[in-house]
Amino acid sequence: MKHLITGSAGFIGSNLAKKLLAEGEEVIGIDCFTDYYARELKENNIKEILNNPNYTFLEKDLLKTDLKELIKDVDYIYHQAAQAGVRSSWGEDFEIYNQNNILLTQKLLEAAKESRQLKKFVYASSSSVYGDTDQIPMTEKQRLQPVSPYGVSKLAGENLCYLYYKNFNVPTVSLRYFTVFGEGQRPDMAFHIFIKAFLQGEIINVFGDGEQSRNFTYVGDIARANILAAQNSPAGEIINVGGTNTVKLNQSLELMKQIIGSDTKIIYSKKVKGDVKHTAADISKADQLLGYSPEVTFKEALEREVNWLKKIY
Ligand code: NAD
Repeated sequence: MKHLITGSAGFIGSNLAKKLLAEGEEVIGIDCFTDYYARELKENNIKEILNNPNYTFLEKDLLKTDLKELIKDVDYIYHQAAQAGVRSSWGEDFEIYNQNNILLTQKLLEAAKESRQLKKFVYASSSSVYGDTDQIPMTEKQRLQPVSPYGVSKLAGENLCYLYYKNFNVPTVSLRYFTVFGEGQRPDMAFHIFIKAFLQGEIINVFGDGEQSRNFTYVGDIARANILAAQNSPAGEIINVGGTNTVKLNQSLELMKQIIGSDTKIIYSKKVKGDVKHTAADISKADQLLGYSPEVTFKEALEREVNWLKKIY
């Protein structure tokens, strides 16, 4: 089977590529190394697989690629490429979100509708589609009201996937990831910033009072959910993928302190527009349809991210 991963040098795409290759699958990875964060980190993500004979890596901008040609004999597409990040999605930068999240997803779906080979199109959606809500845990059927332009762009991608399923039978499935962490985590994400600060004795700046909570999901569990979705999900579905724990930011800082064995100064500043107060995933649908439940505990996953970051900083 041939698997195509878009955004394959990124945090989640690279972990998914490693998992598929470890299972002996053939993988094509494509990524253009957008300048959102350091190229070296992305190169580091894929360095151990670049020489794997089952891995073909293409450094290309998907918006400038003949997508029909790219996917013509591909069995599974895992569409991870996007402009990530909630806070930078306001203002003029929305143009980048519009291009890489909405337009790119539409172009890929257009190409996918011509394919006879394609068995599943797995789209990386996000818990950010829910926005701030009192309905916790979040279930797939509840009202969607993103509070960031990023969330709006991910929801647009999800809606496009459903449209192409309904109208052209493209076998899409959207996975709503809840805050992902672990080896390879993006440098703009809270845990990466906090652990780096602990390791280097820098001040930690928490936006808000630290009492906000997140359902944190280990990246290995996200990769597994993608493969299960490709194999098991009926087409046209939208499914939450969450982790083992919902944790307050302050609790996670306390645990980092214990794991790293050092302390550092923490200051609290104003909440940022676009950040939600709480997320928590109802993952019963993932259990029923995919046979997915998270396997790696919060502490174990945090230790893995700390060990990975110790090698970088
Ligand atoms: P990432 O930025 O590490 O990876 C995305 C990759 O896509 C990058 O390497 C980038 O260079 C590539 N890319 C973007 N536009 C491209 C284009 N036009 N052509 C080729 N490559 C392009 O981000 P990530 O955290 O790994 O996120 C992966 C996916 O998961 C995204 O769709 C994101 O919206 C979604 N997601 C992530 C999280 C999370 O917690 N990390 C949560 C919810 C959803």
